[in-house]
Amino acid sequence: MSKLNGKKVLIIGGGFAGCSTAKKLAKHGFEVTLFDKRNHHVFQPLLYQVATAMLSPAQIAYPIRSMFRHLKNVRVLIGNITRINKDKKCVQPKRSNQEFYYDYLILAAGARHSYFGNPEWEKYAWGLKTTRDALKIRERMLYSFEKAERTRFEEKRKKFSTFVIVGAGPTGVEMAGAIAEVTKRSIADDFTQFDSKTSRIVLVEGSDRVLNRYPTELSDKAKKDLEQMGVEVKLNAIVSNVTKEGVHIGDDFIETENVIWAAGNTASPLIKSVTEHVNRMGQAEVNPDFSTKEDPSIFCIGDCAFLEDAKGTLVPAVAQGAIQAGAFVAKQIIGDLQNKPRGSFTYYDKGSMATIGRSRAIAKVGGLKFSGFIAWVLWGVVHILFLVDFRNKILVFFDWVTSYFTHKRAVRLINTHRADTDKEN
Ligand SMILES: Cc1cc2nc3c(=O)[nH]c(=O)nc-3n(C[C@H](O)[C@H](O)[C@H](O)COP(=O)(O)OP(=O)(O)OC[C@H]3O[C@@H](n4cnc5c(N)ncnc54)[C@H](O)[C@@H]3O)c2cc1C
Repeated sequence: MSKLNGKKVLIIGGGFAGCSTAKKLAKHGFEVTLFDKRNHHVFQPLLYQVATAMLSPAQIAYPIRSMFRHLKNVRVLIGNITRINKDKKCVQPKRSNQEFYYDYLILAAGARHSYFGNPEWEKYAWGLKTTRDALKIRERMLYSFEKAERTRFEEKRKKFSTFVIVGAGPTGVEMAGAIAEVTKRSIADDFTQFDSKTSRIVLVEGSDRVLNRYPTELSDKAKKDLEQMGVEVKLNAIVSNVTKEGVHIGDDFIETENVIWAAGNTASPLIKSVTEHVNRMGQAEVNPDFSTKEDPSIFCIGDCAFLEDAKGTLVPAVAQGAIQAGAFVAKQIIGDLQNKPRGSFTYYDKGSMATIGRSRAIAKVGGLKFSGFIAWVLWGVVHILFLVDFRNKILVFFDWVTSYFTHKRAVRLINTHRADTDKEN
């Protein structure tokens, strides 16, 4: 362990941003306390594969404590931080009167789904942020197939085998593509009464193209791919209501009990307790060094922050944005001890990519654009490399190769739904 320098740093959130800050500070003698609601770090880019029965949660999650086992000045604690006292410089977890003091506070608590002012939709339109969300979506999807097999009514069979994904960003596109693969290939021979190939998968997007942060030609390619895979893409379509029975899009109504929400995010509510400068997505509008406008010892990073960098580029809410912000903030805090002036963050765009399905993806790296098989292989390599644990890299690689040749999805377990309580059939 490096010699302690007497400064306490408290980090809220063990995601990409929080872990990146903690690693760097620990090596410079800071006493770091890292709080997370959960005991594990989640590799969110592969959550959709858990939700669609390709991977199990343990393959994309890793205990935060184990990540820091060699850094004894990082104390990892489970706790949902609900109170921050800026005057006393301390935080408190939910249902606890214990206070944890800091010299520096880093808010890296990520984001949740937002339903554009309609929180009641959440009951039916489930979002995907945690392994728990992914398991819920997986079980509901698998159980819907079971109901489609069992029902006596064709109308109900249609309802049970209809999926609506709201939002055609990377998560929505990945989910739609993966569900299409499940229904058209993976389970196609598994039922007797229900022809899973007739399932309807609808991807609803409010803007005029899918993956609208990508160049138009890549968006168009992705849309074409999705349609070839059997996904119905509805553009310029705004969801006006979501109920137990289905989704309303203007005058159109789609009957379904499988709605997946990938349309909007709102940053952690904790942000409002450290700054008044908050944008409409709940992110903190921070200084160029990620500190809050009110207090140079409090930083908001990752999905919690809204910042245009030194070159005028909006720092994107993606893993690289979070990792780079974490390392940058650690550097500023280390610099404070040496009386160095704070710097301004510049985002380094390493490229972006989204997968659509087997052998189909799009990627933009520098000025180069890729699609199809090459982009898909690139996507796979990058995602394997960024998984935290070596064992998981091997397991995920093995599962992908097996599934590539067999089209099968191994993790089709239903654990919580009880068929005997279901009256719908
Ligand atoms: C389904 C999905 C797919 C994605 N795909 C990609 C992709 O392909 N490529 C890409 O670059 N990015 C992708 N992203 C975005 C990327 O994952 C996020 O930008 C990134 O995780 C943000 O990192 P973060 O550290 O800010 O937040 P997170 O990684 O969300 O971490 C926040 C942490 O804070 C904890 N926390 C929250 N509130 C509290 C509290 N009150 N007390 C204690 N702990 C708390 C949470 O438990 C969590 O562990 C995807 C995101 C999702 C949801």
